[in-house]
Amino acid sequence: MNMHLTRRDMLRAAGSLAAASMWPAGATADEAAENDDDSFYFFQLADTQFFWGDDPVGKWRSAIAQAKRLRPDFVVVCGDLINRNGDAAKVDLEEDERRTRAYLDGAAQLDASIPLRNVAGNHDVCNVPTPETLAWYEKRFGPTWYAFTHKTAQFVVLESDLIKNPQGAPEAAERQLDWLKKTLATKMPDTVRQRIVFMHHPLCLKSLDEGEGYFLLPKERRAELAELFRRSGVKTVFSGHYHGNAVVRDGELEMVTTNGLAKTLRGDPLGFRIVRVSAEGVEHKFYAHEEVPEELTV
Ligand SMILES: [Zn+2]
Repeated sequence: MNMHLTRRDMLRAAGSLAAASMWPAGATADEAAENDDDSFYFFQLADTQFFWGDDPVGKWRSAIAQAKRLRPDFVVVCGDLINRNGDAAKVDLEEDERRTRAYLDGAAQLDASIPLRNVAGNHDVCNVPTPETLAWYEKRFGPTWYAFTHKTAQFVVLESDLIKNPQGAPEAAERQLDWLKKTLATKMPDTVRQRIVFMHHPLCLKSLDEGEGYFLLPKERRAELAELFRRSGVKTVFSGHYHGNAVVRDGELEMVTTNGLAKTLRGDPLGFRIVRVSAEGVEHKFYAHEEVPEELTV
């Protein structure tokens, strides 16, 4: 029995059966594509941050269990996977391995058909990343910056500590920026309608011209990135780090910050976000752990 059949799925199934008669002879490929619902869902989590907060292990396992039940196309964790010391000189290697194992043990419960996409945060690669902290992360969690395409969207994952504090690894910071510019300058395939960015630090929490702060990218970098994103079809930026929820819209660009999975600093309920992507755009809703819906919806 398919527990995840939504109204859209049913419409889609009905559409496939009736497709030959529904699409008049001579309909263009574009018109046909509009009739085909190729939307999909993913879960966006932030700051699993093992072992900080209120039962992070239990909440991580619960989110994974929800993903197994609801079957989004993938799960992304927007940084601070573990609670490594932000100061590279003070890291506790033994404790960091224990935190890493707990995170990966929970992740291993996910079906192989639901990929987990990791994003690095300041408690994974330290506030001022160095070649050593970046290599440490990559060996355990995968690349620090990368892109992937899924159905109608291209996803771009950034290592935002290198953007905020490039001084500890200036070469890596430059390589990432060059890669980002090249990636965004590449024309999107016809099937791809939008780009979506994941990074740990929010671009902003109120408006692009707000002041500086620990929780934000520096103002100058923020403006450069927002401009680059706007020019290249990026519609939404998803972040964490703030331990609270915030949504800012600036023209076509939406910047979405999601509360921590197990620790809030703003009084928001603990939970995660469900995101729906379609050819028309991105919709999302934050759900408290105890209010995750019966079926995928936003
Ligand atoms: Zn953080």
